[in-house]
Amino acid sequence: MSDQHPTFTGHHGLDLDEPLLFEQGAPGVTGVDLPDPGQFDHRFGQAARKSDIGLPGLSEPEVVRHYLRISRNNYAIDGGIYPLGSCTMKHNPRLNEKLARLSGLADLHPLAPLSTVQGALELMNICAHWLKTLTGMPAIAMSPAAGAHGELCGLMTIRAALEAAGDGRGVVLVPESAHGTNPASAHMCGYKVEAIPGNERGRVDFQSLKDRLGDDVAAVMITNPNTCGLFEDEIIEICDAVHAAGAYVYCDGANFNAIVGRVRPGDLGIDAMHLNLHKTFSTPHGGGGPGAGPVVLSRALASFAPLPYVVESEDGFELIESADDSAGSPYGRMKGFHGQFGVFVRALAYMMSMGSDGLAQASGDAVLSANYILARLQDILTLSYAGPCMHEVLFDDRFLDDTDVTTLDFAKAMIDEGVHPMTMYFPLVVKGALLMEPTETESKASLDQYIGMIRSLAERAKAGEAAAFKEAPKLAPRRRMDETAAAREPVLRWRPGVSEAAE
Ligand SMILES: *Cc1c(COP(=O)(O)O)cnc(C)c1O
Repeated sequence: MSDQHPTFTGHHGLDLDEPLLFEQGAPGVTGVDLPDPGQFDHRFGQAARKSDIGLPGLSEPEVVRHYLRISRNNYAIDGGIYPLGSCTMKHNPRLNEKLARLSGLADLHPLAPLSTVQGALELMNICAHWLKTLTGMPAIAMSPAAGAHGELCGLMTIRAALEAAGDGRGVVLVPESAHGTNPASAHMCGYKVEAIPGNERGRVDFQSLKDRLGDDVAAVMITNPNTCGLFEDEIIEICDAVHAAGAYVYCDGANFNAIVGRVRPGDLGIDAMHLNLHKTFSTPHGGGGPGAGPVVLSRALASFAPLPYVVESEDGFELIESADDSAGSPYGRMKGFHGQFGVFVRALAYMMSMGSDGLAQASGDAVLSANYILARLQDILTLSYAGPCMHEVLFDDRFLDDTDVTTLDFAKAMIDEGVHPMTMYFPLVVKGALLMEPTETESKASLDQYIGMIRSLAERAKAGEAAAFKEAPKLAPRRRMDETAAAREPVLRWRPGVSEAAE
């Protein structure tokens, strides 16, 4: 519990700091009327428990209010702008949710006989077709569960192709600006990771990359648009050089929302790229819910795609589940079943309702929104690299020089203004990064409000109000957390009588 403002949550009215259900319940209170067990009272015999297990007793309104109050402590895209760079926190049309909840889709079981789920296989096949068409790639692995899982899938596919050719290359090159999952995935796949520096334009330094290429390099992982929000304009030359060195190009496609409907990665020479359906193709995310990271593959990699996959035959749709039934040389599978079906439904609903023109408009609007922020803030913040930018705009902390305010203080002050902070301290290639991604779903009015808020905070920081920034957030249910301890020593279990929250 915050010491200064124990009951001050930032909401109007009486929204108090919310205790756990366990701290609220009283023995004997219940939300349901159970029949008297009567003669079955001792049905467990010796196994009957001897002591109370301490479940909280609460009435139905107490439970409802508890969850409602907790939900109001969350910041969500449904409540306001959420400019978290790299994450694409955008409005997800309710239509997609409605379709994903149709019982004929939501109640499917992954082990249902194939003859009974032909429609579901067809849906997966159509979704795959859209994704292949939009990326200009001939093959796809639908099963990876998220972006990072897709990276692993892509690298395992590359490794399978190299091994099939008797090639034991062991190095993966990753630009310095890459998302942390890129080196982690390459390492997990057994590769040695080497960093490639960026240039003064915020792009991969092509000369350094060319100098490092050789017959020990299995792949280059590149993000395009990159995490500085910039298009890698030498991408075609990069792909050509990588291929000439006998290596593959993996593209981190998390930023595909900036180019969808306009650029096909297959035309650039990419060999494998994951798509974060939960970013670009409108599945709500941020609370750790299911995402999906299908990986599109070039012709050179197509036959090594993992199991299972859908094929259409004369008899309908089949799921190829074993290497013996496969026409290619799959290296195995990425997960138990065929992927995140509910996310496929949402993605397909999104793509079909938008149409390819609508998708091109969405990426154009996302880029326009980011450039609007760039244009309206570049005189007061410090832009890291000259624009125009793509779907996100990167500032650094030079505008805070001599103010004693840090990027972290600035972000915390945004919380008191009622806005979720942008991504901070990422990418690592600039100092004190502030990475803003407004997305296409914010109106001009909402962007103007956001810009006005950032401008006034920047003015206050420059006017010497550092002390107020150090105090922020004052209006949140929690103040500053020990983020290192939260990551390294998380308290995952509640124990009666020990209130971690109060410590
Ligand atoms: C989000 C993201 C990832 C990882 O995707 P997950 O679905 O969170 O695993 C990788 N790279 C970039 C650039 C991202 O923004």
